[in-house]
Amino acid sequence: MRILLVEDEKNLSAAVCRLLQQERFVVDPAYTGPEGLDCALTGAYDAVILDVMLPGMDGFTVLERLRAGGFRTPVMMLTARGDLQDRIRGLEGGADYYLPKPFQMGELVACLRAITRRGEGAPVMALSFAGVSLSEKDASLTNDATGQSVKLGAKEYQLMEVFLRNPGQILPKETLIERVWGYDSEAEYNNLEVYVSFLR
Ligand code: CA
Repeated sequence: MRILLVEDEKNLSAAVCRLLQQERFVVDPAYTGPEGLDCALTGAYDAVILDVMLPGMDGFTVLERLRAGGFRTPVMMLTARGDLQDRIRGLEGGADYYLPKPFQMGELVACLRAITRRGEGAPVMALSFAGVSLSEKDASLTNDATGQSVKLGAKEYQLMEVFLRNPGQILPKETLIERVWGYDSEAEYNNLEVYVSFLR
């Protein structure tokens, strides 16, 4: 899954990026309100983590503009200001969850999993299609008929996750590269082919 993190505190942003990468999310950081808004509008993300106090445009305004434009991706708001008025404003403005700082990293990951599941309408622990299941917990891919399983590397997992979330669909290479490697990546098409051949 691909996450947009809009947070101007560089240290916190770096720590959250590291954590989410360990948890096998693909993360792109943005550091100002306008940058966050532009990135979110590309529609390339499964969820947005949005700080409230941001340079250029605050998180409430970013959220209001996104929702006013019909943006339906789950948004988790993050802020030092834990007071009730702010929480109400965030939730009324269309936030799916409001996490006051300081937070436990484990809590952030749990909330992110919860809102991304909600976004897809049904809770899933394992993704499965055509006789194979992918475990979110330990990144293993299991053959349902034989019970044989293999543990996937980070990119293999992310790629397999995209396939299993879009069963039976033909996905353009550009989409796959964008979802797994991100826009700025140097990933080339043959890189993608190598990973697809690993999965096969
Ligand atoms: Ca901030």
